[in-house]
Amino acid sequence: MITLDDFLSRGEAVSALIADVRSGRAPHAMALTGMTGVGKRTLARLLACAFLCVGEGEKPCLACKGCRRALSGAHPDLLTPSAGEKERTVKVDDLRGILHALSISAVEGGERVVLLENAHRMTPQAQNALLKSLEEPDGSTRFILTASGDTGLLSTVRSRCRVVRVPPFSREAVERELISRGTDKAAARELSILCGGSLGQALSMREDADFLQLRTLCESTFFSLRSARDVPGAAARLREKREDADEILAVVEQRAREYLACSVNAGPEPAAVPETACHESWLHASPRALENALSAVIDAQRYRASNVSWQAISENLLYIISEEITLWQP
Ligand SMILES: [Zn+2]
Repeated sequence: MITLDDFLSRGEAVSALIADVRSGRAPHAMALTGMTGVGKRTLARLLACAFLCVGEGEKPCLACKGCRRALSGAHPDLLTPSAGEKERTVKVDDLRGILHALSISAVEGGERVVLLENAHRMTPQAQNALLKSLEEPDGSTRFILTASGDTGLLSTVRSRCRVVRVPPFSREAVERELISRGTDKAAARELSILCGGSLGQALSMREDADFLQLRTLCESTFFSLRSARDVPGAAARLREKREDADEILAVVEQRAREYLACSVNAGPEPAAVPETACHESWLHASPRALENALSAVIDAQRYRASNVSWQAISENLLYIISEEITLWQP
């Protein structure tokens, strides 16, 4: 079982937050940002446990009644939106229960936690509905938000939270974790390189052979480009994959967004850079270059809807990416 201590090695901002929570100096609102699969959700839940723990010693003990109910989502003072996991957006209506609960005291009289996972999916109206509570903390309510990047959060919400970026895992940490979960050494190593610092990504890739093949193709083409000289080889590998074109573009788009979110939020922490050789150009590209690469991917998706051939689309995209992410290197 992963504990809060496992997060102490995840960069200064994360360990400082944990120290503050444990010593009773926690901020009333915290927003955990970072790319998909780096452990934001796990960290958020463990922090929620720390606030609701009634056990002895270092919190959370993960064994007391408070911790157990918080972990199972059954704690009456752990408030989460009613929207289902698959909902794309969280609307004001989904927050009714929380807003009502916030208007009265905590059920058990102690701390209570509002846990808002994927807060970037909250509509501006929903975020505004929470603002009053964020602006006027009542001393016993903690808000824990998670968001991919922090671009989906209103600046008014962000400014009232301590924003803590959860950095990607190091390649070694992913490899270790996969091996501890029964993956053989060779596969663990390969997945740890492909996942770009996202343990969640590594775990879902491990389960899906087609996806793994597709990701490998994307890695060996779009994400390995170092200069225009690499384009013809990459284009040749993509040529036969016309049936997978839309999925390939979706993978590249998602990754480009993640790199962009990382580069915009990047702090000086060296831990923020996963040690994966094939991603190097992307990791060191400027936000502007990544924005240009991302809009080229979106253009490519648009061309797919017209009659342009996949070969032309993929070659063009490869050339644009190779120019952008080598041209704008700092
Ligand atoms: Zn406990």
